[in-house]
Amino acid sequence: MTAANAISDVLVSHDPSNGEPVGEVPMTPVDRIPQLVRTAAQAQVGWAALSLRERADILCAAGKRLEEEAERIGTILTREMGKPLAEGIGEAKYAASSIGEEVEEIIEAIAPQTLEDEHTITTMRFDPYGVVAAITPWNFPILMPHQAVIPGLMAGNTVILKPSEETPLSAHEYVSVLNEVLPPNILQIIHGDERQGKALVQSPVDLVVFTGSREAGKHILAEASGGLKRVILELGGKDPLIVLGDADIEAAAAFAARNAFRNSGQVCVSTERIYVDEKIVDEFNDALVGKAAELVQGSGMNEDTNIGPMINARQKSHVLSQVEAAVRDGAKVLFGGGEGEGNFCPITVLDGVSHDMDIMREETFGPVACVMRVSGDTEAIKLANDTRFGLAAAVFGSSEHAEEVASNLTAGMIGINRGCGGAKGSPWVGAQESGYGWHSGPSGHRQFCQVRTLSRARPE
Ligand code: NAD
Repeated sequence: MTAANAISDVLVSHDPSNGEPVGEVPMTPVDRIPQLVRTAAQAQVGWAALSLRERADILCAAGKRLEEEAERIGTILTREMGKPLAEGIGEAKYAASSIGEEVEEIIEAIAPQTLEDEHTITTMRFDPYGVVAAITPWNFPILMPHQAVIPGLMAGNTVILKPSEETPLSAHEYVSVLNEVLPPNILQIIHGDERQGKALVQSPVDLVVFTGSREAGKHILAEASGGLKRVILELGGKDPLIVLGDADIEAAAAFAARNAFRNSGQVCVSTERIYVDEKIVDEFNDALVGKAAELVQGSGMNEDTNIGPMINARQKSHVLSQVEAAVRDGAKVLFGGGEGEGNFCPITVLDGVSHDMDIMREETFGPVACVMRVSGDTEAIKLANDTRFGLAAAVFGSSEHAEEVASNLTAGMIGINRGCGGAKGSPWVGAQESGYGWHSGPSGHRQFCQVRTLSRARPE
């Protein structure tokens, strides 16, 4: 969480694959934050006075600039975060190229609507809240800021972004490029760790949009409650995958490997618990181990790397200690295990885990696939739902069977013979302790707005 040099007046970003510095940004003094929020509030008045179309046009022009810089920014992202270069550049390009479509979706979602009955005509408006605080993690250093910045600005709010202290450079470049086009003080960035995050939440912002750990989310919700500030929280997960007895084993194992190991498991919707019907578990395990063995670990800058390092030593040691404890309590290492070099955490497959192990209860956020054998659907559903989290889940099996099992799961986003991502317009939503409010889709976009109704009598 806290970079080693966080008490100095600069924040140095390091390459997690070798510890070398990549660059630095100025740390924002905590006592300057209230003034930055006042500046954002002043700028918000003029920004909100523009029409939705005018704001969309400005954001599209900013998106074009971002597209021109995406390769450069994506390379910085990989250097400071560690993910493979194709994924770093892909993330920056996706953010830039999606703006055009996204602003149209937002216009449709938040344009005023008219409701009528026999006596009354009501205009329902989606007004801005004012100043949005966007506080984001390091695992998708561009996309996480982006999913708060674009709907926040489109709604007529101004935004102050506090990116993760682990990946300040990517967000800094992202904001700098957008600001070549945006009017002044519409989008500001502050740098620092949780102290700057806390100060921002305590300042007179109107909506806090947070993506990060469950613990920090709970703290933010408590802090925001005094002033009844609006809050959207996208938090961690402990996502299950159920592999039914009639599943396509190859397809299930390919999904498990991709979704447990990509980004070194540092994805909120990573597959962290795998429940496999005992009739097919040995075959599934062989296939999963085969896929794990194909992966190449290394610096994200190497062309053949599929899996990069962990973000830092603290995250690696959290993962290793969960694996060690599980093995001590009887789990069997089918692949990987051990220490790994530097910040690299071995890609690991465990069998024989149980629900009293920490590794099946608390978020791992590392490249570890944990398999548990189950006697059938009832046990699989019971165990998959035995969690305080509720972000995503997946079920692999013959289609009707998988549909039936999926309909009994408590997660917010459930994939059937695929991952959790929905069709265009679907929300990104966590249930239980994985979220509070949600992003995307018409209902997600509206959460950046104060809904207001103006009603008049219908003329005779
Ligand atoms: P984190 O909670 O440690 O930090 C996230 C951000 O919040 C950082 O910018 C940090 O400086 C700031 N922060 C920390 N404590 C704060 C506080 N009390 N008040 C204000 N700001 C505070 O999380 P992380 O380690 O950066 O990210 C990993 C977590 O993010 C994982 O739990 C992952 O599952 C989650 N995540 C969730 C989603 C989602 O869509 N649900 C997406 C990505 C990541």
